[in-house]
Amino acid sequence: MLHLLKAEPTLLPVAPDDASGEDIERRRQEAHSCLSCGQRATTVLIVADPQGAWQGKRWLDLCYAHFNAVRAGA
Ligand SMILES: [Zn+2]
Repeated sequence: MLHLLKAEPTLLPVAPDDASGEDIERRRQEAHSCLSCGQRATTVLIVADPQGAWQGKRWLDLCYAHFNAVRAGA
């Protein structure tokens, strides 16, 4: 799904392995930009590389439209 965003995973911010709902909620309120279009991100996903090519998990900040696009394409 990252190819949809043209995101380089190793440049994404590292997410804690054990991120809780509170961590996710805090991240959503930190006003990050959508990785795809740069608008205010209102959602966030935590992604892990299925191939294990990068270490740990990463935050994926997305606006609502791109959140849905990623979800639909995943
Ligand atoms: Zn977007």
